[in-house]
Amino acid sequence: MKVFKFGGASVKDANGVRNLESIVRQTDVQDGLMIVISAMGKTTNALERVVEFLDTGKEEQALSQWVDIIDFHVAIMKELGLKPGVDVRLQGEIPFDPNLPFDENYDQIVSLGEIMSTQIIAVYLLKQGLSVEWWNMPKLLRTDNTWREARVDDKTSQETIKAGWERPDRPQIVVAQGFIGGTAEGKRTTLGREGSDYTAALLGNYLDAESVTIWKDVPGILNADPRLEPNTVLIPSLRYQDAVELSYSGAQIIHPKTIKPLENKQIPLFVKPFGDPKAAGSCISQDGVGPLNVPVYIWRKNQILITMRAKDFAFVLEESLSEIFDIIHRHRLKVALIQSSAVTISVCVDNTRFVPAAIEALQVHFNVSYNDHLSLLTIRGTTPEILEQAKAGRTIMLSQTTRRTARLVVKEI
Ligand code: ASP
Ligand code: MG
Repeated sequence: MKVFKFGGASVKDANGVRNLESIVRQTDVQDGLMIVISAMGKTTNALERVVEFLDTGKEEQALSQWVDIIDFHVAIMKELGLKPGVDVRLQGEIPFDPNLPFDENYDQIVSLGEIMSTQIIAVYLLKQGLSVEWWNMPKLLRTDNTWREARVDDKTSQETIKAGWERPDRPQIVVAQGFIGGTAEGKRTTLGREGSDYTAALLGNYLDAESVTIWKDVPGILNADPRLEPNTVLIPSLRYQDAVELSYSGAQIIHPKTIKPLENKQIPLFVKPFGDPKAAGSCISQDGVGPLNVPVYIWRKNQILITMRAKDFAFVLEESLSEIFDIIHRHRLKVALIQSSAVTISVCVDNTRFVPAAIEALQVHFNVSYNDHLSLLTIRGTTPEILEQAKAGRTIMLSQTTRRTARLVVKEI
């Protein structure tokens, strides 16, 4: 079987959905096709605003945002020839409970983006005469209740999903939500922003897919973000380990958690342009070509550099590493880079909403200083000339270089 994943940009309007249909029609679905889909367009951001409005008592704004979201989906349905309320019944009420914590409400509401997109697309494909079934991932992909970053219970999920897939009466094509799962108690959860790629990888792993393809609005994996660098080139083939490094460095092309489930089963991952399905795109696999023969530039934005010094001038490294990383882990900080000296340790982390509480916890035992509004630039396949060019005109807060890779923490302009 194969797994396809379509992101929000690829299904942002009716034409996108028709394009998805055309890609599916060009695919051999004899052995089964699992289609994993994100929320349409910018729906996830819009749903996040609904939660924030409700959480701060701005009910009118929440409702008006909610109505916009519903209207957006209704318009797409109509353009696809579907009857709202008949072919697809969208969620009526916003599932918000003021007695629940923010993050729990977030998951109940934000998960609806994927529910809506998959309902619409599954019904549309069915009406076009394809053999299709809609799957409700909150009932199939079992997670714990770490809201907004739920951890998947692989054993239970694989059992349930395999059983569903191996049913003799299963249609050839299954349409499933990316990004969302559910607890044993039946609550919806989300796996972290941009988590649909990860879902596709998990399904590929559980069902021993022959390949997983991520359809995107770019030609494949490029050596730099075309919005930031003028001359980009396509990287046709790369190894799992290169892809992991690229995604952890901040390349927004695939979610960092995507690679491991595929590598474990040696399943190739294709990244292809949804506008040109015959194009080769990029292929990530065990025997991909490496090391990369063009320099690769990866920006990770919105970083904060936190430096700790022990209050009693003890050697931080020996005595405090485990404590520091325990705090970092408990506060869900995402570490992009670590640097240490005899008496200090610096970590460059994503500047998320979890940072202030983590700093507070670190301050109990350390003198903590920090710099924000930073970006981390990683250059793979660097040379001294390339590095000089990259440094020119920038304020470098920290740099780490090995023979082929340079990592610069720079001030955002
Ligand atoms: N819709 C979710 C998001 O925008 C998941 C995804 O796109 O992968 O974060
Ligand atoms: Mg998305």
